[in-house]
Amino acid sequence: MAPGRSPERGSSSSRSASDEEQPLVTVVRAELVRGHRPVVVSEVPVYIGLKDRDGRQFEDKGNCQHVQYRWLRGPVVKPCFYHPHKQSMIKDVAKTHLCYCSKECFLKGYNTIPKTQWGTKDDDDVDKEMLAEWVEVATTRSYCPSKEDIDRPLRLQITPLTKGGIKSEKDGMTITTGTVIPTPQEARCRRTLTNQRGQIHADWLNKQFKVMNWNVLADLYANESVYPYCEKWALSWTWRKHLIMKELKSMAVDIITLQEVQKDAYDEWFRPQLLDAGYEGVFQQKKRDPIFHRGKYTAEGCATFYKTTRFRRVDKQVIDYDRETSTEIRNTGDDQRCQNLFWKEISL
Ligand SMILES: [Zn+2]
Repeated sequence: MAPGRSPERGSSSSRSASDEEQPLVTVVRAELVRGHRPVVVSEVPVYIGLKDRDGRQFEDKGNCQHVQYRWLRGPVVKPCFYHPHKQSMIKDVAKTHLCYCSKECFLKGYNTIPKTQWGTKDDDDVDKEMLAEWVEVATTRSYCPSKEDIDRPLRLQITPLTKGGIKSEKDGMTITTGTVIPTPQEARCRRTLTNQRGQIHADWLNKQFKVMNWNVLADLYANESVYPYCEKWALSWTWRKHLIMKELKSMAVDIITLQEVQKDAYDEWFRPQLLDAGYEGVFQQKKRDPIFHRGKYTAEGCATFYKTTRFRRVDKQVIDYDRETSTEIRNTGDDQRCQNLFWKEISL
Protein backbone atom coordinates (compact mmCIF):
# COMPACT_ATOMS: atom_id res chain seq x y z
CA MET A 1 0.00 0.00 0.00
CA ALA A 2 1.44 3.35 -1.00
CA PRO A 3 1.13 6.00 1.67
CA GLY A 4 -0.34 8.55 -0.70
CA ARG A 5 -1.51 11.93 0.40
CA SER A 6 -5.23 12.20 0.48
CA PRO A 7 -6.82 15.18 -1.28
CA GLU A 8 -8.40 16.51 1.88
CA ARG A 9 -5.00 16.89 3.43
CA GLY A 10 -4.51 19.60 0.82
CA SER A 11 -1.58 21.98 0.92
CA SER A 12 -1.83 23.07 4.50
CA SER A 13 1.75 23.24 5.68
CA SER A 14 0.83 22.77 9.30
CA ARG A 15 -0.86 19.47 8.42
CA SER A 16 2.19 18.42 6.39
CA ALA A 17 4.45 19.10 9.30
CA SER A 18 2.61 16.52 11.37
CA ASP A 19 2.36 14.10 8.46
CA GLU A 20 4.97 11.83 10.00
CA GLU A 21 2.84 11.49 13.08
CA GLN A 22 -0.31 10.54 11.18
CA PRO A 23 -1.13 6.84 10.95
CA LEU A 24 -0.96 5.37 7.47
CA VAL A 25 -4.26 3.58 7.92
CA THR A 26 -7.31 3.90 10.11
CA VAL A 27 -9.39 1.02 11.41
CA VAL A 28 -12.93 1.44 10.11
CA ARG A 29 -14.39 -1.87 11.19
CA ALA A 30 -13.32 -4.55 13.61
CA GLU A 31 -15.64 -7.28 14.73
CA LEU A 32 -16.01 -10.87 15.66
CA VAL A 33 -17.61 -12.83 12.85
CA ARG A 34 -21.29 -13.38 13.68
CA GLY A 35 -21.19 -13.22 17.45
CA HIS A 36 -18.68 -16.01 17.52
CA ARG A 37 -17.58 -17.37 20.89
CA PRO A 38 -13.88 -18.23 20.94
CA VAL A 39 -13.34 -21.97 21.12
CA VAL A 40 -10.16 -23.82 22.12
CA VAL A 41 -7.97 -24.79 19.14
CA SER A 42 -10.09 -22.87 16.64
CA GLU A 43 -8.83 -19.58 15.29
CA VAL A 44 -10.97 -16.66 16.49
CA PRO A 45 -12.68 -15.33 13.34
CA VAL A 46 -12.38 -11.57 13.14
CA TYR A 47 -13.09 -9.10 10.38
CA ILE A 48 -10.73 -6.11 10.19
CA GLY A 49 -11.60 -3.28 7.81
CA LEU A 50 -8.94 -0.64 7.21
CA LYS A 51 -8.87 2.58 5.25
CA ASP A 52 -5.73 4.05 3.74
CA ARG A 53 -4.98 7.74 3.33
CA ASP A 54 -6.56 7.79 -0.10
CA GLY A 55 -9.81 6.62 1.40
CA ARG A 56 -9.56 3.10 -0.02
CA GLN A 57 -11.17 0.54 2.22
CA PHE A 58 -9.97 -3.02 2.41
CA GLU A 59 -10.04 -6.07 4.63
CA ASP A 60 -6.78 -6.89 6.36
CA LYS A 61 -6.17 -10.60 6.43
CA GLY A 62 -2.81 -10.13 8.07
CA ASN A 63 -0.72 -8.58 5.30
CA CYS A 64 -0.94 -4.91 6.19
CA GLN A 65 2.33 -3.66 7.64
CA HIS A 66 0.84 -0.43 8.96
CA VAL A 67 -1.18 -1.89 11.75
CA GLN A 68 -0.22 -3.71 14.91
CA TYR A 69 -2.25 -6.47 16.51
CA ARG A 70 -2.21 -7.45 20.12
CA TRP A 71 -4.27 -10.19 21.75
CA LEU A 72 -4.84 -10.13 25.48
CA ARG A 73 -6.32 -12.68 27.80
CA GLY A 74 -8.57 -11.42 30.58
CA PRO A 75 -9.45 -12.64 34.03
CA VAL A 76 -11.56 -15.77 34.56
CA VAL A 77 -15.32 -15.33 34.32
CA LYS A 78 -17.02 -18.54 35.41
CA PRO A 79 -19.78 -19.93 33.22
CA CYS A 80 -23.35 -20.31 34.47
CA PHE A 81 -23.93 -23.45 36.52
CA TYR A 82 -26.88 -24.36 34.30
CA HIS A 83 -25.59 -22.99 31.00
CA PRO A 84 -21.95 -23.95 30.43
CA HIS A 85 -21.81 -21.81 27.27
CA LYS A 86 -23.08 -18.64 28.94
CA GLN A 87 -20.97 -16.28 31.00
CA SER A 88 -22.12 -15.80 34.56
CA MET A 89 -23.35 -12.43 35.70
CA ILE A 90 -24.14 -13.30 39.30
CA LYS A 91 -22.19 -15.13 41.95
CA ASP A 92 -23.98 -16.52 44.96
CA VAL A 93 -21.61 -15.72 47.82
CA ALA A 94 -24.08 -16.54 50.56
CA LYS A 95 -25.15 -20.14 50.00
CA THR A 96 -24.21 -22.18 46.92
CA HIS A 97 -20.97 -20.32 46.01
CA LEU A 98 -21.80 -20.98 42.37
CA CYS A 99 -22.15 -18.63 39.40
CA TYR A 100 -25.23 -17.98 37.28
CA CYS A 101 -26.06 -16.20 34.04
CA SER A 102 -29.36 -14.68 35.16
CA LYS A 103 -31.60 -13.98 38.12
CA GLU A 104 -33.73 -16.99 37.12
CA CYS A 105 -30.73 -19.32 37.19
CA PHE A 106 -29.59 -17.83 40.50
CA LEU A 107 -32.98 -18.39 42.14
CA LYS A 108 -33.22 -21.90 40.73
CA GLY A 109 -29.75 -22.68 42.02
CA TYR A 110 -30.32 -21.03 45.39
CA ASN A 111 -33.51 -22.98 45.98
CA THR A 112 -32.80 -26.37 44.46
CA ILE A 113 -29.12 -27.30 44.21
CA PRO A 114 -28.28 -29.88 46.90
CA LYS A 115 -25.43 -29.09 49.27
CA THR A 116 -23.24 -31.79 47.74
CA GLN A 117 -23.01 -29.73 44.56
CA TRP A 118 -22.29 -26.37 46.16
CA GLY A 119 -19.02 -24.66 45.50
CA THR A 120 -16.71 -24.05 48.41
CA LYS A 121 -16.05 -20.71 49.96
CA ASP A 122 -12.31 -21.32 49.65
CA ASP A 123 -12.79 -21.63 45.91
CA ASP A 124 -13.08 -17.85 45.80
CA ASP A 125 -10.10 -17.30 43.54
CA VAL A 126 -12.60 -15.88 41.06
CA ASP A 127 -12.77 -12.65 43.04
CA LYS A 128 -9.00 -12.39 43.07
CA GLU A 129 -8.91 -13.17 39.37
CA MET A 130 -11.31 -10.32 38.74
CA LEU A 131 -8.59 -7.93 39.80
CA ALA A 132 -5.99 -9.59 37.64
CA GLU A 133 -4.70 -7.64 34.69
CA TRP A 134 -5.09 -8.51 31.07
CA VAL A 135 -2.07 -10.45 29.83
CA GLU A 136 -0.67 -10.34 26.30
CA VAL A 137 -0.93 -13.71 24.53
CA ALA A 138 -0.13 -12.90 20.89
CA THR A 139 1.00 -10.11 18.58
CA THR A 140 -0.38 -11.60 15.38
CA ARG A 141 -3.61 -10.87 13.58
CA SER A 142 -4.99 -14.33 14.23
CA TYR A 143 -5.17 -16.12 17.53
CA CYS A 144 -6.01 -19.70 18.36
CA PRO A 145 -7.14 -20.03 21.99
CA SER A 146 -5.58 -22.71 24.17
CA LYS A 147 -6.81 -24.51 27.28
CA GLU A 148 -5.30 -21.73 29.42
CA ASP A 149 -7.84 -19.32 27.93
CA ILE A 150 -10.94 -21.27 29.01
CA ASP A 151 -13.49 -19.11 30.89
CA ARG A 152 -11.50 -15.97 30.05
CA PRO A 153 -12.50 -13.25 27.61
CA LEU A 154 -10.04 -12.23 24.91
CA ARG A 155 -9.32 -8.77 23.65
CA LEU A 156 -7.83 -7.76 20.34
CA GLN A 157 -6.25 -4.32 20.10
CA ILE A 158 -5.67 -3.00 16.62
CA THR A 159 -3.30 -0.06 16.52
CA PRO A 160 -2.39 1.82 13.33
CA LEU A 161 1.27 2.76 12.88
CA THR A 162 2.78 5.97 11.56
CA LYS A 163 5.30 6.15 8.74
CA GLY A 164 8.06 5.85 11.30
CA GLY A 165 6.48 2.75 12.79
CA ILE A 166 5.27 4.61 15.86
CA LYS A 167 1.99 3.45 17.38
CA SER A 168 -0.77 5.94 16.81
CA GLU A 169 -2.97 6.45 19.82
CA LYS A 170 -6.03 7.29 17.76
CA ASP A 171 -7.79 5.59 14.83
CA GLY A 172 -7.43 2.15 16.38
CA MET A 173 -10.08 -0.24 17.66
CA THR A 174 -10.53 -2.93 20.26
CA ILE A 175 -12.68 -6.06 20.22
CA THR A 176 -13.52 -7.92 23.40
CA THR A 177 -14.90 -11.42 23.04
CA GLY A 178 -17.05 -13.57 25.28
CA THR A 179 -15.23 -16.12 27.41
CA VAL A 180 -13.38 -18.94 25.67
CA ILE A 181 -15.19 -22.27 25.74
CA PRO A 182 -13.62 -25.73 25.60
CA THR A 183 -13.73 -27.74 22.40
CA PRO A 184 -17.14 -29.42 22.47
CA GLN A 185 -17.33 -33.18 22.72
CA GLU A 186 -18.01 -34.80 19.40
CA ALA A 187 -21.12 -36.87 19.02
CA ARG A 188 -19.70 -39.64 16.89
CA CYS A 189 -21.90 -42.41 15.75
CA ARG A 190 -21.06 -43.31 12.16
CA ARG A 191 -22.31 -46.53 10.77
CA THR A 192 -20.25 -48.26 8.13
CA LEU A 193 -22.10 -50.40 5.66
CA THR A 194 -20.12 -53.21 4.08
CA ASN A 195 -20.84 -55.89 1.56
CA GLN A 196 -19.04 -58.34 3.81
CA ARG A 197 -20.77 -60.62 6.24
CA GLY A 198 -18.74 -61.77 9.19
CA GLN A 199 -15.16 -60.81 9.92
CA ILE A 200 -13.30 -58.07 8.12
CA HIS A 201 -9.66 -59.00 7.54
CA ALA A 202 -6.70 -57.42 5.76
CA ASP A 203 -6.84 -59.60 2.66
CA TRP A 204 -10.50 -58.81 2.06
CA LEU A 205 -9.91 -55.11 2.77
CA ASN A 206 -7.17 -54.94 0.13
CA LYS A 207 -9.68 -55.77 -2.54
CA GLN A 208 -12.30 -53.34 -1.31
CA PHE A 209 -12.68 -49.61 -1.48
CA LYS A 210 -14.42 -47.33 0.95
CA VAL A 211 -16.84 -44.58 -0.05
CA MET A 212 -18.29 -41.88 2.12
CA ASN A 213 -21.07 -39.47 1.34
CA TRP A 214 -21.85 -36.28 3.22
CA ASN A 215 -24.05 -33.27 2.84
CA VAL A 216 -21.83 -30.72 4.56
CA LEU A 217 -24.49 -27.96 4.84
CA ALA A 218 -23.30 -24.97 2.84
CA ASP A 219 -22.50 -21.88 4.90
CA LEU A 220 -25.02 -20.20 2.62
CA TYR A 221 -27.83 -22.07 4.35
CA ALA A 222 -26.38 -22.23 7.86
CA ASN A 223 -28.11 -19.17 9.20
CA GLU A 224 -29.67 -18.43 12.54
CA SER A 225 -33.21 -18.21 11.25
CA VAL A 226 -33.09 -21.80 10.00
CA TYR A 227 -31.12 -23.09 13.00
CA PRO A 228 -32.24 -20.83 15.89
CA TYR A 229 -31.49 -23.53 18.46
CA CYS A 230 -27.83 -23.68 17.51
CA GLU A 231 -25.14 -21.51 19.12
CA LYS A 232 -23.91 -18.92 16.64
CA TRP A 233 -20.28 -19.91 16.94
CA ALA A 234 -21.13 -23.53 16.21
CA LEU A 235 -22.91 -22.50 13.01
CA SER A 236 -20.00 -20.48 11.70
CA TRP A 237 -18.07 -21.90 8.78
CA THR A 238 -14.72 -21.07 10.39
CA TRP A 239 -15.63 -23.48 13.13
CA ARG A 240 -17.41 -26.17 11.10
CA LYS A 241 -14.85 -26.43 8.32
CA HIS A 242 -12.18 -27.74 10.67
CA LEU A 243 -14.50 -30.37 12.15
CA ILE A 244 -15.67 -31.46 8.72
CA MET A 245 -12.10 -31.81 7.50
CA LYS A 246 -11.09 -33.74 10.60
CA GLU A 247 -13.96 -36.11 10.00
CA LEU A 248 -13.21 -36.54 6.29
CA LYS A 249 -9.57 -37.35 6.96
CA SER A 250 -10.30 -39.63 9.91
CA MET A 251 -12.54 -41.87 7.81
CA ALA A 252 -9.60 -42.66 5.49
CA VAL A 253 -11.88 -43.56 2.62
CA ASP A 254 -11.00 -43.96 -1.06
CA ILE A 255 -13.85 -41.89 -2.48
CA ILE A 256 -15.55 -38.92 -0.85
CA THR A 257 -18.76 -37.55 -2.31
CA LEU A 258 -20.00 -34.27 -0.89
CA GLN A 259 -23.10 -32.18 -1.36
CA GLU A 260 -23.75 -28.50 -0.63
CA VAL A 261 -20.14 -27.57 -1.20
CA GLN A 262 -19.81 -23.85 -1.86
CA LYS A 263 -17.61 -22.90 -4.79
CA ASP A 264 -15.33 -20.77 -2.59
CA ALA A 265 -15.20 -23.49 0.07
CA TYR A 266 -14.12 -25.99 -2.59
CA ASP A 267 -11.38 -23.72 -3.93
CA GLU A 268 -10.10 -22.38 -0.64
CA TRP A 269 -10.67 -25.23 1.77
CA PHE A 270 -11.67 -28.67 0.52
CA ARG A 271 -9.46 -28.93 -2.53
CA PRO A 272 -6.14 -27.75 -1.01
CA GLN A 273 -6.74 -29.60 2.27
CA LEU A 274 -7.66 -32.87 0.61
CA LEU A 275 -4.88 -32.54 -1.93
CA ASP A 276 -2.48 -32.65 1.02
CA ALA A 277 -4.21 -35.81 2.17
CA GLY A 278 -3.74 -37.48 -1.22
CA TYR A 279 -7.05 -36.75 -2.93
CA GLU A 280 -7.87 -35.22 -6.27
CA GLY A 281 -11.25 -33.63 -6.71
CA VAL A 282 -13.88 -32.52 -9.19
CA PHE A 283 -16.54 -29.94 -8.55
CA GLN A 284 -19.81 -29.10 -10.24
CA GLN A 285 -21.88 -26.11 -9.31
CA LYS A 286 -25.67 -26.27 -9.39
CA LYS A 287 -27.36 -24.33 -12.11
CA ARG A 288 -29.20 -22.04 -9.73
CA ASP A 289 -28.41 -18.34 -9.73
CA PRO A 290 -25.62 -17.49 -7.32
CA ILE A 291 -26.76 -16.12 -3.95
CA PHE A 292 -25.29 -12.99 -2.38
CA HIS A 293 -23.60 -14.21 0.77
CA ARG A 294 -21.05 -12.46 3.01
CA GLY A 295 -20.19 -9.79 0.49
CA LYS A 296 -20.00 -11.92 -2.64
CA TYR A 297 -22.05 -14.05 -4.99
CA THR A 298 -21.61 -17.74 -4.48
CA ALA A 299 -23.32 -21.02 -5.25
CA GLU A 300 -23.03 -24.56 -4.05
CA GLY A 301 -22.77 -27.89 -5.75
CA CYS A 302 -21.33 -31.38 -5.60
CA ALA A 303 -17.73 -32.35 -5.07
CA THR A 304 -16.19 -35.77 -5.52
CA PHE A 305 -12.72 -36.65 -4.28
CA TYR A 306 -10.75 -39.81 -4.89
CA LYS A 307 -7.52 -41.20 -3.48
CA THR A 308 -4.94 -40.86 -6.24
CA THR A 309 -3.11 -43.98 -5.05
CA ARG A 310 -6.15 -46.08 -5.89
CA PHE A 311 -8.07 -44.25 -8.57
CA ARG A 312 -7.53 -41.94 -11.48
CA ARG A 313 -10.09 -39.90 -13.29
CA VAL A 314 -11.04 -40.98 -16.78
CA ASP A 315 -14.14 -38.85 -17.25
CA LYS A 316 -16.47 -36.40 -15.59
CA GLN A 317 -20.19 -36.68 -16.07
CA VAL A 318 -22.81 -34.37 -14.70
CA ILE A 319 -26.35 -35.60 -14.39
CA ASP A 320 -28.74 -32.72 -14.73
CA TYR A 321 -31.97 -33.83 -13.13
CA ASP A 322 -33.89 -31.03 -14.78
CA ARG A 323 -33.12 -32.59 -18.12
CA GLU A 324 -33.65 -36.14 -16.84
CA THR A 325 -37.05 -35.30 -15.47
CA SER A 326 -38.22 -34.08 -18.83
CA THR A 327 -37.67 -37.49 -20.34
CA GLU A 328 -37.59 -40.63 -18.26
CA ILE A 329 -38.93 -39.63 -14.90
CA ARG A 330 -41.85 -37.56 -16.18
CA ASN A 331 -43.12 -40.77 -17.69
CA THR A 332 -44.22 -41.76 -14.20
CA GLY A 333 -46.81 -39.02 -14.51
CA ASP A 334 -46.09 -37.62 -11.06
CA ASP A 335 -45.09 -34.12 -12.05
CA GLN A 336 -45.44 -32.58 -8.62
CA ARG A 337 -43.06 -35.11 -7.15
CA CYS A 338 -40.57 -34.50 -9.94
CA GLN A 339 -40.53 -30.78 -9.28
CA ASN A 340 -40.06 -31.16 -5.55
CA LEU A 341 -37.31 -33.68 -5.82
CA PHE A 342 -35.26 -32.52 -8.69
CA TRP A 343 -35.56 -28.80 -9.13
CA LYS A 344 -32.15 -27.70 -10.36
CA GLU A 345 -30.51 -30.68 -8.65
CA ILE A 346 -27.45 -32.32 -10.07
CA SER A 347 -25.25 -35.35 -9.57
CA LEU A 348 -21.60 -35.66 -10.25
ZN1 LIG B 1 -27.96 -19.76 33.29
